[in-house]
Amino acid sequence: MAAIRGKDTKPEMIVRRGLWRMGFRYRLNHKRLPGHPDLVLTKYRTCIFVNGCFWHGHEGCKLYSVPKTNTEFWINKVRRNQERDVDVKRRLNAMGWNCITIWECELKPSRRDDTLKSLAFTLNEIWLDSHKVNRYYAIPEEESEHYQKVAEAETKD
Ligand SMILES: [Zn+2]
Repeated sequence: MAAIRGKDTKPEMIVRRGLWRMGFRYRLNHKRLPGHPDLVLTKYRTCIFVNGCFWHGHEGCKLYSVPKTNTEFWINKVRRNQERDVDVKRRLNAMGWNCITIWECELKPSRRDDTLKSLAFTLNEIWLDSHKVNRYYAIPEEESEHYQKVAEAETKD
């Protein structure tokens, strides 16, 4: 089983390969950043965490089911991980980093493509926001006419 799964099917590898294929470049496990994020995209000022659903306690997820034995032990263990995740994100945000969490269950073969597409979308949004690019270039014609009229009305008096 271990041999079949192989290294390459690890959730983190799926994200790495997907991003690379879409042209995003990243650093791995940045040692100087809180929580050693799995992937760091300096150009996008973004840290990506690829989280296992059990260990990081993905709420409402099928993959996060607490074992029937030693239940309290596991609940406490996962809760500590969740608290650490929140703390790490708070520290990164304070340093001006964006944080994106990708969950293991979002990388199942059936959801993988959508997850990677929306990740790319989010990264591009972050880039646009941070560069204050005019995002209204795609306004449909009627709408841009409307804006023009408003602008004209405003400049009349
Ligand atoms: Zn999950």
